[in-house]
Amino acid sequence: MATMTIYDPVEVISGIGPKRLDSLHALGIYTIYDLLTHFPFRYEDIQVRSLDEIEDQEKVTLKGHVVTQAVVQYYGHRKSRLSFKMSLDSAVVSVTFFNQPYLKSKINLEDEIAVFGKWDSLRQNLSGFKILGTSDGDQDFESVYHVNSGIKQKTVLNLIKEAYDRYQSLIPEIVPESLRHRYRLMTHKEAIRSMHFPQTEEEFQKATRQVIYQEFLVYQMKLQLIRFKRKSERNGQAIYYDVQKLKDFIKLLPFELTDGQKKVVNEICRDLRAPFEMNRLLQGDVGSGKTVVAVIALVASILDGYQGAFMVPTEILAEQHFQTIAQLFSKTDYTVSLLTGSTKSKERVEILKQLASGELDLLIGTHALIQEDVVFHNLGLVITDEQHRFGVKQRQLLNDKGNNPNVLYMTATPIPRTLAITTMGEMDVSVLDQMPDGRIPIRTIWSKSDQLAKALTFIEQELQKGRQAYIITPLIEKSELIDLKNAEEVHQKVSEFYGNRWRVGLLHGRLKPNEKDEIMHAFKDNQYQVLVSTTVIEVGLNVPNATVMVIQDAERFGLAQLHQLRGRVGRGEAESYCILLADPKTEIGKERMKIMTESTDGFYLSQKDLELRGSGDLFGVKQSGLPQFKYADVIKHAEILDTVNSDVLLLLNEGSFFEKKEYQPLREFLKTEQNLAQKLQ
Ligand code: ADP
Ligand code: MG
Repeated sequence: MATMTIYDPVEVISGIGPKRLDSLHALGIYTIYDLLTHFPFRYEDIQVRSLDEIEDQEKVTLKGHVVTQAVVQYYGHRKSRLSFKMSLDSAVVSVTFFNQPYLKSKINLEDEIAVFGKWDSLRQNLSGFKILGTSDGDQDFESVYHVNSGIKQKTVLNLIKEAYDRYQSLIPEIVPESLRHRYRLMTHKEAIRSMHFPQTEEEFQKATRQVIYQEFLVYQMKLQLIRFKRKSERNGQAIYYDVQKLKDFIKLLPFELTDGQKKVVNEICRDLRAPFEMNRLLQGDVGSGKTVVAVIALVASILDGYQGAFMVPTEILAEQHFQTIAQLFSKTDYTVSLLTGSTKSKERVEILKQLASGELDLLIGTHALIQEDVVFHNLGLVITDEQHRFGVKQRQLLNDKGNNPNVLYMTATPIPRTLAITTMGEMDVSVLDQMPDGRIPIRTIWSKSDQLAKALTFIEQELQKGRQAYIITPLIEKSELIDLKNAEEVHQKVSEFYGNRWRVGLLHGRLKPNEKDEIMHAFKDNQYQVLVSTTVIEVGLNVPNATVMVIQDAERFGLAQLHQLRGRVGRGEAESYCILLADPKTEIGKERMKIMTESTDGFYLSQKDLELRGSGDLFGVKQSGLPQFKYADVIKHAEILDTVNSDVLLLLNEGSFFEKKEYQPLREFLKTEQNLAQKLQ
């Protein structure tokens, strides 16, 4: 017989037929180890009481042995009473259950059983509500497992018991001794036992710590290994640019770089010079000036004879970037072109020709860049703006157009640190945490939802100064059609209000991309003074002349999303305003509106959002794909995650991870997991 391992298929346990096996698979349980780490999702506090301490009519749990066969009597219309006797340490009591005749099969003579119910001291009878786990020993908690229709709690528990009995000696201890001691963690074997069969609350709390630590350890180790490997393989492009020439270019900029921009430019340029592939995320709040950072990096690679690609999610953004960059490049001899879905075919042919020959230094565009016939001569740097708007595949397709090019992703969605560690852990992260000088912070005002007319009057004062305004219509996520109807109504109202004094545009999700672009262009050109829009309004849209935004039903948005929307104003020299119309019903809702009026710091807001709403709802995080942990929670256990992450970095940087015997089980475990994952695919 082959040797036993903890990764034996779960069906080696007796009593698992094809049907049960399907149910287990549906629960994600394939191996013995999967089964052993299928932990209870909650515990029921059994807290068994003894007869002499309970009062009449008190709800209690009593535990004892079944001493008479359960009998069911039917009466009336579908009514029944089940009764049996149970012997406790000191006495025999009767137990009755009403209208649950099916419990009969659970009540076997001589079994130990715990019943939760209401105590009648006169009749020495417990009127049962439910049967808790029939536990051995002194376990005061009943483990409750996720199950499905094909498998019962009790079955799962029994399978786990048998697996534990037979395989406990094979449970790997992958948390290195030194770390286990430092944090006073249980062994994994102890933790597994204590998770399933805890005697006390402290015990499963302690076990939980081990399990969470280990789960984070494995996850972070995998991520950081990817990063470590990328950096040690040295098969990327090392870009040796002329430092003086880059400085000359920076001097051409119409402004001085902020210290924040200088810091991230340095981080990026250090990666460019290194012989590994850069894989870096640049996080910076809306308006923090990421574009110019990108341009400097692109110029660095152009200076060493490489080409650059700059991909953005929409045509209007591509055009915006193109105009900015073309203007800067006009003072140099670098060349740049724009490629989008609207590029005329003759022009496209010419661009592709220049791109393939290496004549063209930089190509800016939309998804059009990833088409197959777009071929670069030697692509050195790929930049993807608003990276979460692209799928993993799309981003990869662009990266594949070079020979391990350097990659920079940019995002204006601030991601709290703890989430960044898990979602972006394999990347290096640069944070642009400073705004250019001279920005006047946006003034945010919160009013009742019936104050639209007042807001429109306020807007008119700004319009008279030559400014423009946005009005964001309520968010009804369920249906674009309802959103549209809403937006049309608001558009109608606003148009009537302003009569023929001002022109009001309408932007919504049912428009075709080129129709959307047309309307945004018209707004940019001040053909519309007011733009009524659903939330489709483009995140990167830059209309410095717009100074007011009204957001209706603001309580329906997350803080981070409100912040993103608000970022459409405050982009010019004039003071800007954001008016939130909202009647939040809960305290948390009110708190959120208040926070919006108090802060314009995206990182602060996203952290608050996270705390107030939990990770599930966080705007932007869903898109970046929060990892699913079996047991750990990146928000609840943020501190442990932080600790684990530094531990992992230390282990890897020490360099001894790949040799030291202490880390052997962890190395093995990672390898096995990888092999298993491949097998399942
Ligand atoms: P985002 O990070 O949101 O993409 P942008 O790159 O569009 O921001 O920059 C927002 C605005 O700030 C642009 O008009 C840009 O020219 C300006 N800007 C960028 N850096 C500076 C700076 N150091 N000083 C002054 N203005 C700057
Ligand atoms: Mg931008």
